[in-house]
Amino acid sequence: MVISFIGNDFKYEIEAVTKLFLPLQSFEFLFEEMPVNAENFCIIKREKNTDGYILSVNVLLNGEKREISQNENGGFSDEKDETILCQNLFKILQELTGITPPWGCLTGIRPVKKVNKLLDEGKTKKEIFGILKEKYFVSDEKLELAFKTACAQSKALKMLDKRSFSLYISIPFCPSRCSYCSFVSHSIEKPEAKKLIVPYVDKLCREIEEISLIAKQLELRLDTIYIGGGTPSVLSAELIEKLMVSVKKSFDISKIHEYNVEAGRPDTITEKKLEIIRDLGATRISVNPQTMNDSVLAAIGRKHSAKDAEEAFYAARKLGFDNINMDTIAGLPTDTLKGFEHTIETLCKLDPESITIHTLTVKRASRLFSEHEERTENNIGDMVSFGQKKLLDTGYIPYYLYRQKNTVENLENVGFAKKGRECLYNIYIMEEAQTILAAGAAGSTKLVDTETGKIERIFNYKYPYEYISRYEKMMEKKQALRNFLTG
Ligand code: SF4
Repeated sequence: MVISFIGNDFKYEIEAVTKLFLPLQSFEFLFEEMPVNAENFCIIKREKNTDGYILSVNVLLNGEKREISQNENGGFSDEKDETILCQNLFKILQELTGITPPWGCLTGIRPVKKVNKLLDEGKTKKEIFGILKEKYFVSDEKLELAFKTACAQSKALKMLDKRSFSLYISIPFCPSRCSYCSFVSHSIEKPEAKKLIVPYVDKLCREIEEISLIAKQLELRLDTIYIGGGTPSVLSAELIEKLMVSVKKSFDISKIHEYNVEAGRPDTITEKKLEIIRDLGATRISVNPQTMNDSVLAAIGRKHSAKDAEEAFYAARKLGFDNINMDTIAGLPTDTLKGFEHTIETLCKLDPESITIHTLTVKRASRLFSEHEERTENNIGDMVSFGQKKLLDTGYIPYYLYRQKNTVENLENVGFAKKGRECLYNIYIMEEAQTILAAGAAGSTKLVDTETGKIERIFNYKYPYEYISRYEKMMEKKQALRNFLTG
């Protein structure tokens, strides 16, 4: 499809709205130029006329044409004009495709942030629903979900101390690569990746120590820790110990609110590793099966069974872990609605403190689905609806929510937890409410000024080999966080 912009440059939002309806289309963008001989096009125009100016959207899609024009008085207002053009494009594409995206034309990845902002302004639930419906056409179902999530976050957000931060530690290695993975994680099946692990953990411990020095100088208080990946439990028991001892030596973990270790793939979890994780202070772990169907696990390239996931869960329980999360993904290749129902029901029987339902991203899905001829059904919207309803009925509450760009059917990823067992780190990072200092490859440090809402990011090198070989250079760059945090 050709998208032509005349008198404006609202490419980002217009493309996002168009993708809600045409997720697999490729786009060509023209600026101050009309499309010529295009089979499908969309013209987004803002033009002066005698009364002020006119905003118009013209669409040709599969031989059908629609137009909405609107006169505006006064001067241009980019924010208002962009909203009107997006709304009108949304209405046209809704009519031409017959699709009604449940989040309306709200394309941002953090819808709950909007609800929290309106709550802070003192708006009532009714007013919030009215605003988001009128401006973005969000469905009642999604408004309820976002509102419930905002309510579940309120205690965690209120107890935030301005000088606090969370520490993220990245382990970008996995036992093998899942077919749907879009993360930089290295499979240690490759010897060249495996040999990076020891030097990587060495550098990581150094970075943790350096972060602790900066935090002390700036009088920042550590609030939560998240060791994530990849698959942190792919490290040997000795390396997990080395890493967690380094955290313990660098920070006073007796005063923190939460210490998460994403154990991750069940095929890497052993009792010995769990004991070390427990003894060195972790308060919450994740065991992430993604599906409890063996055939789907095989289809995505996992080398463990659903039974392995159950055993890893019970082993953690036996060792005293009383806060366990389990992750699932709706829409995995070869999975069916029935299969997904089985996954959710099995997890509910295990009774972990939190369960997260992710949605597969659309690009991955399209590639994977074409590879799996045996796929018979993949109604992801139904899977997500079933999962969310079942978890709500079982007593779990949605507590963090985000949308990835290009997820199948534009759905959301939602973390559900039992009351009081919400993961603070997930709330803080998703709502951009707290500074996150990140260590390790692909780590993204996010500096949040809670007074002004200003956010700055500092990225570590993405790949472990760069992280190891260019460590000094990266740390020089990281000194910028002193300037931000001292204001
Ligand atoms: S476990 Fe996660 S990070 Fe690792 S390969 Fe699979 S999807 Fe990617």
